[in-house]
Amino acid sequence: MKHLHKKRRTSWIDIVFSVVIITLITSGSYLLFFSSENEAATLKENGKHSTVVDTIDSKYPGIKISTETSNDSFTPYAIQYPQSLHSTFNKEISTYINKVKKTYITEMEAYKETGEKLEGELNISFQTVPHHSGNYSFVLLTNKYTSGANGTTEIRTFHLNPETGNSILIQDLFDNDATNLEIVSQLIQDELHANKDIKKFLIPEGVASYTKPSWENFNHFALSNQALIVYFDKYTVAAGAAGTPIITIPLEKLDAVIGDSFKGEETKSNAQSNDDESSANNEALEENQGDTEKTPIASNIKKVALTFDDGPHPKVTRQILDILKKYDAKATFFMLGSRVEYYPDIASEVKEAGHELGNHSWNHPDLSKASNERIRNEINNTSTVIEQATGQKATVFRPPYGAFNDNVRAQTNLPIILWDVDTLDWKYRDSNRLLPIIKNNVKDGSNILMHDIHQSTADGLDAILTYLKSEGYTFVTVSELDDNIAK
Ligand code: ZN
Repeated sequence: MKHLHKKRRTSWIDIVFSVVIITLITSGSYLLFFSSENEAATLKENGKHSTVVDTIDSKYPGIKISTETSNDSFTPYAIQYPQSLHSTFNKEISTYINKVKKTYITEMEAYKETGEKLEGELNISFQTVPHHSGNYSFVLLTNKYTSGANGTTEIRTFHLNPETGNSILIQDLFDNDATNLEIVSQLIQDELHANKDIKKFLIPEGVASYTKPSWENFNHFALSNQALIVYFDKYTVAAGAAGTPIITIPLEKLDAVIGDSFKGEETKSNAQSNDDESSANNEALEENQGDTEKTPIASNIKKVALTFDDGPHPKVTRQILDILKKYDAKATFFMLGSRVEYYPDIASEVKEAGHELGNHSWNHPDLSKASNERIRNEINNTSTVIEQATGQKATVFRPPYGAFNDNVRAQTNLPIILWDVDTLDWKYRDSNRLLPIIKNNVKDGSNILMHDIHQSTADGLDAILTYLKSEGYTFVTVSELDDNIAK
C-alpha cells in the first residue's frame, strides 16, 4: 500500500481532484472524495507496470475518459473507461475492470506454468450513448486473448445520469411492469429471428431461455434517442459464429410500453456512434489525398513497402517516425481505432510525416468470425476516428491476423492489404532478429510486416533501412506497390 500511495501522487486523480475538490468540500461530499480515492488505488492493484496514461474531458458534460495501459511483455493491456463525479458509478466501473484484469492475469499465469512463450492481450474500450432524458449508456467492449488461438469478446453496459447520479435499469424504462416485459421479450425474440447476421445461428433452446420475460435477461442494454440496443453474450441465444449478438429495436416499436421520459425524440441526433460527426466533417476534410507526395518511381528501381501495425504508440511510433525521416522513407501505418482514440496526436504526426494511413480495425478481433454488423463497426468507427484525428482518410485496410473472407470483403470498399514478409517482431521482441528474416525473404515489391508498439522493432529499424537502401530498395507506401491488394 505504501507503494501505491507514492504512485498516486503523480497520477491523474490528483489533477482531477485539484479541479473538483473545492466543489466537493463546499457541497459537503467528503465521503465521495474518499471513496473515489480508494478506487483509483484499486485500479492499480493488479499491475505493477500499470500506468494511467491520462484522464481527459469527453465531449459529454460530467464524463471523463480514463485510459490505462500496461507494457508488460507478458500481460499487456490497454483499457479505457468512463469516469464521473459519482462514486457509485465509478465504483461499478472499476469493480468490473478489476475483475476482468484479474481473470486475465490469472489465466496468463496459468499458461506461464506450461512454459509456452506467448503474449496475452486485453483491450477494453467503450462507446457513449447519450439519451435526451439525460441518461447515458456506456457500452464497454472487452477483448481478451490469453492463448494463441482464440480471443473472447464481452459487452457490458453501465448507465448514468451525470446530473443526478442515478443509474437506470432495464425495468425502469418499462415502468417495471410485467405485461410490458412480456411485450418487450417478444419484440426482442422477433428481432433475433429477423436479423440476417444472427438468425441462421440461433439456438432455439438458447433463445427460449435467454429471451424469456425476465428483466435479468436484458440487463446489457443501451438507450439511444432512436432505439433500444440489447447485447447478448456469445453462446447464449446463438452459436459462436454469430459472435456477441446485438439487436436494435427502434423506439417507435416500443412506444406503447416505454415510459414517457424515455420515448424517442426525432430531433435528437443519432447517438449510437460518432457517425453523425464524421459525416458532417467529411466534406470539410475532403482532400485530394492519394496522389499527394507521390514520387514517380522508375521501373528499374526496387520497391519495398514497410508496414507498421497495431499502433499508434506514444513512444515507439515517434521513434519509428524519426528513423524513417532519416532515410526519407515512406511507410504505411495500420492503426487500431481504439489506439487512435487514445493517441490522436501521434496519428496526426504519422500523417504529417507523409505516411499512408491504414485501418486495422478498432479492437483487433478476428473479423472472419465476426458478424457483418460487428465488422462494419470495427472498420467504419476506425476510419472515422482516423479522419477525426488526422484530417485524412485511411486508404487501405489490413484485417487483424490477416484473417478475412468474402463477408469481411463485402463490408468495406477499402483495398485489403496483407504482407509477404513477416518479421515476427511480435514474437521475438528482439531487435537483432528482424534483419536476418528480411534478408532471407525480401524481394522487389515486398510488403514487410512490423509493429510500431514494440521497442525492439524501433531499435532494429535503423539496421533494416541501412541494409535495404544498400541493396537499392526505395521505400514506398502500400498503395504505391503494384499487385499488393489481396485477391
Ligand atoms: Zn495487428
